Amino acid sequence: MSRRRMIYEGKAKILYEGPEPGTLIQYFKDDATAFNAEKKAVLDGKGVLNNRISEFLMTRLSAVGIPNHFIKRLNMREQLIKKVEIIPLEVIVRNVAAGTMSKRLGIPEGETLPRAIVEFCYKKDELGDPLVSEEHIAAFGWASQQEMDDIVSLALRINDFMCGLFSAVGIRLIDFKLEFGRHFEGEMVRTILADEISPDSCRLWDFETNEKLDKDRFRRDLGGVTEAYAEVARRLGIIKESAQGGDVIDFTSGMK
Ligand code: C5P
Repeated sequence: MSRRRMIYEGKAKILYEGPEPGTLIQYFKDDATAFNAEKKAVLDGKGVLNNRISEFLMTRLSAVGIPNHFIKRLNMREQLIKKVEIIPLEVIVRNVAAGTMSKRLGIPEGETLPRAIVEFCYKKDELGDPLVSEEHIAAFGWASQQEMDDIVSLALRINDFMCGLFSAVGIRLIDFKLEFGRHFEGEMVRTILADEISPDSCRLWDFETNEKLDKDRFRRDLGGVTEAYAEVARRLGIIKESAQGGDVIDFTSGMK
């Protein structure tokens, strides 16, 4: 047995070298951070839930033709993924005003936007991931025009699909963050969805009550963070409710 090689440690995930060339293992930690890591906590079970929710969403997106890095879930906290070169952008899609958009533009939180809006932030922790325009991206060469066209079209398709998927289970998709990578396939390079999609990276509100079922519970000290993530997993049919009323995570499915 040899110790596996760590490639990268982020705030909520660790990447290890994968078993075959061109693969990585993505490990989901229980660590939660907000406001560029000024606020920190360990939330028991968050990593397990995000691993399952991200697996579910990536698998569904693959099925509708959205190329992504997910290969298979390995265990409770790990998934096998395709190695990509991450494009240094956080791509944010918004349907309803909230968070920094509300603050920046003075739009009340909860106001439906006239159409889905795609924003870009430059991925740079030291700078707090600043909002940038396509002009900055082109001028500094962070992504090519072809990559930007692919990113915007994929982001909007992902938004359409996820709005439908969540609304079917009584959840309003307010906004979310995506990351994309360059996947080298022989002579070709393809832009594919990477990272994770989970309540850490989405705003999800209950349709009826507007209750927050996402990381804003942590950011705003609302409590019940993992309970809210479990509720999302339960509604998506990923975890089952036990006879005692608690959630049961079925780790037997998809273990092969
Ligand atoms: O904070 P802001 O309103 O800009 O966030 C928009 C969306 O992007 C939210 O769903 C938030 O969870 C997500 N996000 C993220 N990681 C960041 C910044 C934002 O997942 N670094």
